Amino acid sequence: MADSLYIHIPFCASKCNYCSFNSYAGLEGLQERYIESLCAELAQNASGAHTEPLRTIFFGGGTPTLLSKNLLHKLLTFVLSSFSVLPDAEISIEANPGTVDMEKFKLLHNAGVNRISFGVQSFNDQELKRIGRIHSAQEAVQAVNMAKTSGFGNISIDLMYGLPGQNAENWQKNLETAISLDLKHLSLYQLTVEDQTPLATLVSEGRLQMPDEDEIAAMEDITAELTAENGLSQYEISNYAQAGYQCRHNITYWQNRDYFGVGAGAVSCLQGIRKQNMTNPETFCHLMDKGKSIVMEEEKLNPEASFRETVVMGLRMNRGVSKKELEKRYGMDFENYYDKVFHQLIADNLLEQSAEHIRLTDRGRTFANRVMAELV
Ligand code: SF4
Repeated sequence: MADSLYIHIPFCASKCNYCSFNSYAGLEGLQERYIESLCAELAQNASGAHTEPLRTIFFGGGTPTLLSKNLLHKLLTFVLSSFSVLPDAEISIEANPGTVDMEKFKLLHNAGVNRISFGVQSFNDQELKRIGRIHSAQEAVQAVNMAKTSGFGNISIDLMYGLPGQNAENWQKNLETAISLDLKHLSLYQLTVEDQTPLATLVSEGRLQMPDEDEIAAMEDITAELTAENGLSQYEISNYAQAGYQCRHNITYWQNRDYFGVGAGAVSCLQGIRKQNMTNPETFCHLMDKGKSIVMEEEKLNPEASFRETVVMGLRMNRGVSKKELEKRYGMDFENYYDKVFHQLIADNLLEQSAEHIRLTDRGRTFANRVMAELV
């Protein structure tokens, strides 16, 4: 049974040069039809037997706040009237600072959205320009302040480090600005250059320079120091929060629990079956109109693969994975299953265990990719 719902809005004002997400610029004409198709898919799910009262709802993208007020209102009203939602549910929306105003924030707040996650990425205008963001640093600060004035207490921002041309000093300034906004949550990701993005071309042609490993390590030291000094505890490799403000929706993913997703490219994971919708929004709408299947891929997860996935995802969180939970869910024991690999990772000070949990050590978090490669 799933109590987490993800809703994908694939539209963006323009495509950032590093982006490999399922998002599209220039599809303004499709938005109304897309929301209709989305509501139709939501209605199918609302009547399905696999949902229970929703504990988390996440509007992600793309840029959900690019939708007009009318369409946002229509979608929110439909979702909240079609599903049973727990009174203390976390209802999040991703927002791009270049696509919001006071009226939109009020609409979201009045409709019941209680968490905003801003894609800010940098507070340095040159850096923002180099990665193709549509907003300035000042607009990002203004957007956060507007959200606060509209009544939002639970605000997160995404920042990226390791941007082209960035050094540790610039990163420190970005992080200090974010911290000065007194937010409940920060997501701090290292930019990875994805194949077949304009950024990959610019880097391979030598037109943009990425910071080297030492510079990245210095940025990570700054992150650890500033977040700890300012009451933002790391609870996942890239996520930091004040007490009680960890993102409950994302924890569902990291615990590898059931959830369902609607919209173009959205993934659902229900009772051992993972399926993904057609990624192209036009195809998605077309198939919904015709009453045909929108499923692009479907796979049945075997319990052993699911066990390993639960381990790898769970280790992303500082609390680690619960031995008891694993045993209860899969009838399998972490230590016995991984045996020599487990003991080597413990000996290398990459993993540690308590009576209840197995988790990454601080060193293990630094070399997380290596640890995960051993366990996946
Ligand atoms: S706003 Fe987000 S989803 Fe849209 S293009 Fe930029 S990175 Fe991709």
